[in-house]
Amino acid sequence: MNIFRGWQKVSYIDYPARIATLLFVGGCNFRCPYCQNPELVREWQGLPLIEESAVREFLLNRKTFIDAVCISGGEPLLHFEELLPFLRWVKKEGFLVKVDTNGSFPARVEDLEKEGLVDYWAIDFKLLPENYSLVAPPDLKKKVLETLEMALNFPLHKVEFRTTIYPPFHNSKILEEMAQYLREAPLWYWQNFQNQKTLSPEAQKVAPYPIETLKAWAKEINSKLERELAFVRE
Ligand code: SF4
Repeated sequence: MNIFRGWQKVSYIDYPARIATLLFVGGCNFRCPYCQNPELVREWQGLPLIEESAVREFLLNRKTFIDAVCISGGEPLLHFEELLPFLRWVKKEGFLVKVDTNGSFPARVEDLEKEGLVDYWAIDFKLLPENYSLVAPPDLKKKVLETLEMALNFPLHKVEFRTTIYPPFHNSKILEEMAQYLREAPLWYWQNFQNQKTLSPEAQKVAPYPIETLKAWAKEINSKLERELAFVRE
């Protein structure tokens, strides 16, 4: 397997309440202008390869310390055939598995669910469906909606939805509309856009919203929905 191009060996924040190792898969079928991992999207084949054998050895030697394996990217499900045997091995060895996805491969999400290979999903809901062509080829909007619909029926403890708040794409009204899609979701995390390193050079000229503005919008949305749905991640 030659898809892992980044590795944070220990993370205390990527799996809820667990210690995890975090692997980054190269390649993505989206082009979000604000993407903070441009090297994983564009030039990933030139990045040093993380050997799967090194990951396996690391995990086997730290079974009492590491609880979970988180797979991020890039888009992990782009490389489904290569990922599958690795995830089977990880589960067989007793680790929890979290997968991040942009939501464009509903059938693969379903297959992993059926086989019980993922314990926790982080699924992007990037912007209003009618605007998905700003980040992805037009035919993927339908796929993302399929994934969202499926994931909204997952048990509450095994999924979170995520949005990077990017001023050209989001304002309070748009976020309120997006909240209507997720009103039954367990958790909707917002992370503020950072402009230091981005896929599009234009995005570096965009100023993020003040974090207090996002918190105020999240509070307003939660109050309208009469439940705690939106959380700002700092
Ligand atoms: S933000 Fe995620 S989905 Fe968007 S281009 Fe970057 S890796 Fe791909």
